[in-house]
Order: sequence, then C-alpha cells, then structure tokens
Amino acid sequence: MSVFEYAPAPESRAVVDVKPSYGLFIGGEFVDGHGTPFKTVNPATEEVLSEVAEADAADVEAAVKAARRAHDRTWSRMPGAERAKYLYRIARIIQERSRELAVLESLDNGKPIREARDVDVPIVAAHFFYYAGWADKLEWSGYGTTPIGVAGQVIPWNFPLLMLAWKVAPALACGNTVVLKPAETTPLTALLFAEICQQADLPAGVVNIVTGAGATGQALVAHPDVDKVAFTGSTEVGKAIARTVAGTSKKVTLELGGKAANIVFDDAPLDEAVEGIVDGIFFNQGHVCCAGSRLLVQESVAEEVLARLKRRMATLRVGDPLDKNTDVGAINSAEQLARIRELSAIGEQEGAGRWSAPCELPDRGFWFPPTLFTGVSQAHRIAREEIFGPVLSVLTFRTPSEAVEKANNTPYGLSAGVWTEKGSRILHVASQLKAGVVWANTFNKFDPTSPFGGYKESGQGREGGRHGLAAYLKGGDL
Ligand code: NAD
Ligand code: MG
Repeated sequence: MSVFEYAPAPESRAVVDVKPSYGLFIGGEFVDGHGTPFKTVNPATEEVLSEVAEADAADVEAAVKAARRAHDRTWSRMPGAERAKYLYRIARIIQERSRELAVLESLDNGKPIREARDVDVPIVAAHFFYYAGWADKLEWSGYGTTPIGVAGQVIPWNFPLLMLAWKVAPALACGNTVVLKPAETTPLTALLFAEICQQADLPAGVVNIVTGAGATGQALVAHPDVDKVAFTGSTEVGKAIARTVAGTSKKVTLELGGKAANIVFDDAPLDEAVEGIVDGIFFNQGHVCCAGSRLLVQESVAEEVLARLKRRMATLRVGDPLDKNTDVGAINSAEQLARIRELSAIGEQEGAGRWSAPCELPDRGFWFPPTLFTGVSQAHRIAREEIFGPVLSVLTFRTPSEAVEKANNTPYGLSAGVWTEKGSRILHVASQLKAGVVWANTFNKFDPTSPFGGYKESGQGREGGRHGLAAYLKGGDL
C-alpha cells in the first residue's frame, strides 16, 4: 500500500449563497409550504444546511394547477422554436453558474466536487442543449408533436441535478409542463434550478418544484390532473407507483435499480480494466443505479486482477467532498449508511471474504470505506440485492457462456460492462446480455444523445436521445 502525501485543495464554498430556509416553487414564485419544514444536511459533516418547506396535498394541488394553466395557455401553444430559446437560455445559465451548482451539489449530496464539477453539471447543461435542439424538430421525432400535458416527476438523491435535467429537459422541449419533487436529502440544487428558471424568464408555471418526502411524492403521482408520471428511485417505490397509476390514463416511465455485471475476460488490458472496475463501483460512492456492483472475472486472471484492484483501491482518497483531490465522498444519509452496513454484515455472515481499503475516515459525517467481497456465490444476498454503496461483489467464471449466464442471473437489467481485446467477443457477449446499456472497455459513460433505461425490474421506458422523446409525446409508444 502506498499513501501519497498531498496538500488539501478545498474548493471555496463562498461561491454559493445557501439560504437558511427555502419555500416551494409554484407558478414562478417561491411560496410557503403548508407541511412541516424539514432540514437538509451536509452528509460529510452533519451540518444543517437549510430548512426546506414540505408540500402537503394542497400545495401539490396548487402546483399541478399552475402547471396545467401554463400548459394550456402558453407552453404547449408556443412554437417549438420559441420553447427552444428558453431551453438554450437555461443551458447557458447552467454553464455560467456551473461552479455554484457543483459546490451546492457536493455540499448537499456528499459527492466529490471533482465529480459534481466534471461529470454532473456538464452533462446537465448538455441535456438542456440537446433537447433544446429537438424542440423545433419534433415532426422528425417519430412520435408526433403533441405533448402529453402535465408531468409529475419524482427523483432520487444520487444525482439530484442530473436526474432533474433528464426529466425536465425532454418534457419541456415537447411542450409539457412539470411538477418535480426532488429527494428529501438533496433538495437544494433543484431550488437553485428554480432560480435559474426565473433568471431565464421561463413563463410562470412551466416548472414547479415541490419539496418533501414520500408522502409528497405519493400525492403528486396520484393527482388526477397529472397526465404523465416519471420516476427514478428504488424498485420498491417504483412498484408502488405502478400500482397507484394502474387503471388510470396516466403514462408512466420508471428508472429503477440495478445490479450490473462488469465482466473481465483474461485477454483484457488489466490495468485499464481495473480503472473501469473502480470507476464502475466507486464513482459517486456507488450510489449509482447502473453501478458495476458485480465483478465477474475470468478464473485464469482472477488472482492478478484482485491484486491490482486492491492496490488501486488503497490509493483512493476518501474524505472531504469539497477537496479537489477527493475520489470518494460521503454516504448520502445515515439511513443509506445503515443499509450498506447491514448488507455488508450479511455478506460476511454468508461466508464471503471482506476486504476494505485501508483509509482513515473522518469522525463526523457518514462514511464507508471502498470495500470488496471475494468468494461470492450467486445465491448470496450481496450478489442479488442492490447495495447502493461502495461495495463490490467478486465472482469468477470460466467460459463466455458461463459469464453471460451469471450476468443475466438477476432480477435487474439496467447495465453491464465487458472487458476484452476481442471485438467479436464484445459483440457476441453484449448481444446476449439482458441489459439496457452495455459498455465495452469502459464504464459509466453518459451522453444526452444515447438512450438509457432498463429491462425487467430495472424499469420501463428510456431517457435520453430521440427515444427519450417518446415519454413526453402523445405518439410515443409508452
Ligand atoms: P426511494 O425510491 O425511496 O426514493 C426516491 C424518490 O421517491 C424520493 O424523492 C422519495 O421521496 C420518493 N418517494 C418515496 N416514497 C414514495 C412514494 N410512495 N410515492 C412517490 N414517491 C415516493 O429511494 P431511497 O429510499 O432514497 O433509497 C432506497 C433504495 O433505493 C436505495 O438503497 C437504493 O438501492 C435505491 N435507489 C435507487 C436509485 C436509482 O437511481 N435507481 C436511486 C436512489 C435509490
Ligand atoms: Mg442533504
């Protein structure tokens, strides 16, 4: 193990003005909520950042009304080229205020500033630019040009602003209006986005943000005047939402969990593969629905890959998310940390071998060291269930068909990775994997032009690309 000495390089938080309290964003204005305000904390320090309004059923009603009015009177009637101007404006403001957005995301979520700054925020802007380009070209979408109406959107805490962009940009481009509910542990960047909507002079009611927890989300998806429900989060809540909207005329898209296999063949360039394994499971503390949480490594190179992987994991810098050197930040909440600990303890009880990177964890805040389990079998819960943390399960295989069989042996089907030097093997294996996205010799690559979504319990519908328009146009196939 080698530990590099380095000087801390903290990003300044002076660039963000975190207000002591926030209201709801309804009809173009910040208004008081009628529920019980809740606190959002910085998970790296447990410091309370702000108190945020809780939307009750009456607030959700007001937000849906504002969205309906904006849809009927202005937004759906506006020529696509006019809507595009607003979306381009929002995209440009996101770029101009990118440092502020990145710091706030890192503070409220716990993710390293390097990732918020270099991954989340640039892709957020790219999404708005991309869908701005579609707004006046919908007749070539293949799904018609008629918006669905009012979209109720519920998003998780792992990529707060990015999930907002995935939901809001295509909805608006197609002429829908939205009521969005961010996750209760990470509401702040959505509220800053509301300010950006004001700055862009977006017509009142086109975007509404209601903060709160599950009850607020439930009120939103169940609201009779919501025409379209879009959800990203746990499979359990996704199923509950599917039951809520069953029998109504609402359209629904669900992006749920995953348990991706990252398959390393013996001819793969091993150092590159190790980087891909690390990126696959430790990016964003493993709070990634498409994380490569199951490493399937060919038996002949398993020992070598594990040795190199442990060496690499020992160099990961875990700690202050605002430090520009940090690779792995804080776990998003005490609840999520408890889940990760519980499943990891079960892994040990099941007989898997646990190894954690030797790193010092800060005293305050929510932390979990980069960890791997060896000797994992397919029946183990750590191989089957989404841990949603920096925990990798390592399994081995002998033949390509065994790799495919093991990779597909999961109720999920969101993503997978294949590492090999042989192009023909990439095509052969990828075509047999039941996963919405398959990366070859890379992992966790995202682009607004590329559709993303799952099979089986990973959900239904696609986000991104032309396919992402289907969810927001009447002629879409879902
Ligand atoms: P969750 O599914 O409970 O929360 C996601 C969003 O849904 C949040 O905004 C939440 O307030 C809202 N919500 C909760 N209950 C609701 C309901 N009944 N109706 C409508 N909205 C509701 O996720 P969580 O509790 O934060 O995490 C639980 C597990 O989910 C994690 O351990 C992880 O495995 C998984 N998860 C997956 C993703 C993903 O992107 N696939 C994201 C977050 C969490
Ligand atoms: Mg928070």
